Amino acid sequence: MVTETELACIERNEQIGLAELGLRLDEAKQVTAALQAEMVPTQMAALGECPRACAACGRRLASKGCSAARFPSLFGDVPVRVRRLLVCPCQGTGESETRSVAVLGFGRGAAVAPELAYVTARYAAMAPFGKAADLLSELLPVSGTQHASRVRSRTLRVDAAVVQAQAAARAS
Ligand SMILES: [Zn+2]
Repeated sequence: MVTETELACIERNEQIGLAELGLRLDEAKQVTAALQAEMVPTQMAALGECPRACAACGRRLASKGCSAARFPSLFGDVPVRVRRLLVCPCQGTGESETRSVAVLGFGRGAAVAPELAYVTARYAAMAPFGKAADLLSELLPVSGTQHASRVRSRTLRVDAAVVQAQAAARAS
């Protein structure tokens, strides 16, 4: 699938100094955020069109429509429409007609990009949450990560995932 889209218009005079040579940080942030804002909804739409089969019985899963969600990523918070699929009748009890799951694990309206979780936890391990938040929002078009509390909660979630993975590795 090829999609073309116009992302940015970058203008310079002929008389440039070193600071105008190449992309500036604010322009790079603008370009990556614009690209992400186009790319994520396009991918989600393509994914939503894809037929899905039940992993257990192979029956095609019925769609339960779309819901609005948010995708916080390294290159911005992107609003998306997420396809929901009805849980297969082979999975459990009679109320299964009313149960549905969102594709890609978009539970409760949001799924965080693994790279954003990783980078946030990595810098939060080296600096206070507020400093990590400042660093990330200076270099990346992240929205939301500029708050120390957001850095803290994301880091604790990664922490919990690492502890679980280590416990699982030790148990096996
Ligand atoms: Zn099934």
